[in-house]
Amino acid sequence: MTDHPTPPTSPNPPARAVCGSRAGLPTYLVVEVLALAPLRSGELDGVQRELRCVLEVHHDGPHFGLVREVEGADSGSVWARWHAYDAPREVLRLADCDGADRDGADVCEEFAEHPGGHTWQLADPWRNARV
Ligand SMILES: [Zn+2]
Ligand SMILES: [Zn+2]
Repeated sequence: MTDHPTPPTSPNPPARAVCGSRAGLPTYLVVEVLALAPLRSGELDGVQRELRCVLEVHHDGPHFGLVREVEGADSGSVWARWHAYDAPREVLRLADCDGADRDGADVCEEFAEHPGGHTWQLADPWRNARV
C-alpha cells in the first residue's frame, strides 16, 4: 500500500476579480439615458459618464457599465455596452440582478442574468475604496 500525499490546497483561493475596463459615455448617448430615466426635479446631473465594467474579468462579449439607476423599486438601471477598443454605442435599460448572498446581507449590483460572479463574489478595488 502506497501512501499518496494529498496535494496541498490553498486556504485562500485566488480572489475573483472584476473586469474594470474603462470607457467614456459619448455625449449623444446622455440624451438617450435621460430618455430612459429622466432626471428627477432638482436633479442636475445623475448620469455616470466615466464607465467601468462591473462583470467578472475575462467575460465573453461586450463590457457593461452602470450609467444611471432608474427611480423606483424593481425598475432596473440604465447600462452602457461597449466592445474592447471601442466607445459605447448604445445604452439599454436592464432589470437588476436579484442575486443576494446566503444571509441576504449583500445584494448584487449588476443586471439580471449577467455573466460571471455576483458583486460580492468579486474583488473590486473601486468598491472597497468607497467603503
Ligand atoms: Zn468587462
Ligand atoms: Zn448578480
